Amino acid sequence: MKILKFGGTSVWSKEMIEKTAKIVVDAKKEDSIIVVVSAMSGITNTLIEICELAKNWKQETFFPLLESIKEKHIQVAQALCNNNCDIFFTNEINKYIIQLEDILKWVSLLKQLSDKWKAKILYFWEILSSLLVSLAISQAWYPSKNYFSRDLLICSWKFIDWDCNYKSSEEKITDFLKNKDLEKEIPVITWFWWGDEEGNIYLFDRGGSDYVATLLGRFWQASSIEIWTDVDGIMSADPRIVETPILWEELDYSICAEFAIAGAKVLHPKTISPVQRKEIAIVIKNTFNPKAPWTKICSNKSEWIKGIHIDDNQVILSFIDPAMIGSIGYISEVVKVFSSLKISLDAIATTETSFSLSLRKKDYTEKLLEELEKIKEFFHLEVLENITKISLIWTHINEYDILRDVWEIVMMSKWAYGKSLTLFVKTNDSKRLIQTLHKKIFQK
Ligand code: ADP
Ligand code: ASP
Ligand code: MG
Repeated sequence: MKILKFGGTSVWSKEMIEKTAKIVVDAKKEDSIIVVVSAMSGITNTLIEICELAKNWKQETFFPLLESIKEKHIQVAQALCNNNCDIFFTNEINKYIIQLEDILKWVSLLKQLSDKWKAKILYFWEILSSLLVSLAISQAWYPSKNYFSRDLLICSWKFIDWDCNYKSSEEKITDFLKNKDLEKEIPVITWFWWGDEEGNIYLFDRGGSDYVATLLGRFWQASSIEIWTDVDGIMSADPRIVETPILWEELDYSICAEFAIAGAKVLHPKTISPVQRKEIAIVIKNTFNPKAPWTKICSNKSEWIKGIHIDDNQVILSFIDPAMIGSIGYISEVVKVFSSLKISLDAIATTETSFSLSLRKKDYTEKLLEELEKIKEFFHLEVLENITKISLIWTHINEYDILRDVWEIVMMSKWAYGKSLTLFVKTNDSKRLIQTLHKKIFQK
């Protein structure tokens, strides 16, 4: 059995949904298929914008936005069934839209948006795209029905965040499969996250449908997982930044995990872990060009640099105190503040009298500064904003060759294991820098 996951651009229009359905039906000729879909591209961003407007009591601004995405879905649905959608289907769409409007009215009245309500709002639209895809599959070709990942995947609190509870999810999924005949039906599943055993809702990270696909692939013991998107596969850099990146035919699981962590949007950082130990291959393919060469992610230890990625939204905090020499507990005091606020630290560099760490801009908040203020007697704090992280992934190159082209490095870190080098530079001109580095490494 195979899992096929389609991202936002693959379900963006009637034409794309039909292409998606054709890929699914072609794959079904050879194997049983389960489909995972994301919301149409841009919709999750618009919904987040709507949530913010609703919270700030701006009905007049969020209703037109809501109307426009509602129209878009209804239009695509009508186009898929030649303006003859069956009543069940239009009722389903309307049902979700009415519920959503009610929630948003409450949000704007109360001027409050809990994580639980936000989860519901985003989830409704993922349901709609799964409805559209199952409609397109069943329309012309094959019986298909949409299901909710909340009924299949259970999460529990793990250390600092909610994550998949493998045992409960495996049980749920085994139960689900017992009652399904995959010869006769193609299930289409939404990205989402149902919460604990009591049914509380938790939403997974942005881009999380990749992770849902590999989790389902693991529990269903899929032969492979195909991630269909808008590029041919994984490349040496983001093709939106570098003009002619190299497409990798085969990449090792660990390298891909590093790509994702470095900011390569093509995969969510958690995508690899469910399948790596089970050695289930992930294949990345292009919905716009299904016959193009693709990337296979599997066990493949390779030796040469595979990618460069940048992440512009970084802040560096430096903690400085001459009394640090030879003393114990400085770093742990600071790290405790970060873990109590559930902020993930990225790179850390230390000297005898200071240490610096990087974090994402979104985590650099008033609350963090307040908490750090409380332990201020330990150190003097310096902050560098507008920092770009450049990750050189899986490198066995001579750093001196590379560093000659990089000005104003404010921090750097390298695995002792020696495979990746991370540089932090001022954000000015970071795109040009990555283009120069890419040329130097890959187009000698
Ligand atoms: P989807 O909506 O299908 O999930 P995403 O937008 O999340 O698609 O991911 C695909 C995008 O990832 C591509 O359009 C591309 O710009 C970007 N990307 C970033 N880094 C890479 C890389 N190394 N290789 C391929 N694509 C990359
Ligand atoms: N639609 C969701 C998002 O934009 C999930 C996904 O695309 O994977 O984050
Ligand atoms: Mg994605």
